[in-house]
Amino acid sequence: MPKGILLDRDGTLIDVVRDEETGAFHTAFHPSHVRMLSGAIEGLRLLQAEGYLLAIATNQPGPAKGQFSADAVLRTNRALVDTLAQAGISIAQVAVCMHHPQGGDGGDPSLVRECSCRKPRPGLLDSLVSELGLDREGSWMVGDSAADVAAGHAAGLRSALVFASTRCELCPLRPRIPGSLPDSLSHLPEVHGPDLVTIARGILARV
Ligand SMILES: [Mg+2]
Ligand SMILES: [Zn+2]
Repeated sequence: MPKGILLDRDGTLIDVVRDEETGAFHTAFHPSHVRMLSGAIEGLRLLQAEGYLLAIATNQPGPAKGQFSADAVLRTNRALVDTLAQAGISIAQVAVCMHHPQGGDGGDPSLVRECSCRKPRPGLLDSLVSELGLDREGSWMVGDSAADVAAGHAAGLRSALVFASTRCELCPLRPRIPGSLPDSLSHLPEVHGPDLVTIARGILARV
């Protein structure tokens, strides 16, 4: 059975987008928004070279909140997969949760509900593990939020946290003690680091 690396999308592989007019940050919802984070390609290359299957598991509640369409999410995901393919990195599958428990104005009502796939629940990861036939104990969830770490553990995987302490949108996750992990984490990741290269080296050192 292959081992897998299940990757969060926003803040892990690609950057959030700053709206020039409002200054507000939002997640990518158009192919032109796709900007790889520093170290992401190199980190994925290291993991792929060691035989890990790579897949993406992403919460995208925008359509449930009325922020953008489900089609926009799918086109953006495709652009990311294409960008990675051009760099020689293959993504075996992209699993998306578009649900949100509260939704928002103009959101698609069929997506507004509790679900078992929205991280920190393990549904997305469980379906990737079974559809790709992954070795659960050898597989990892890699993400930039407490929900990613918790989802990985709920699915019986090890978790790695991308934690760039210089990024202001991560302030709620900031630790009180510099260099330590944030105390808001309910689950501690087995590996953490500021970018995917560091994470990849940490994962490979654990095998
Ligand atoms: Mg994220
Ligand atoms: Zn869901």
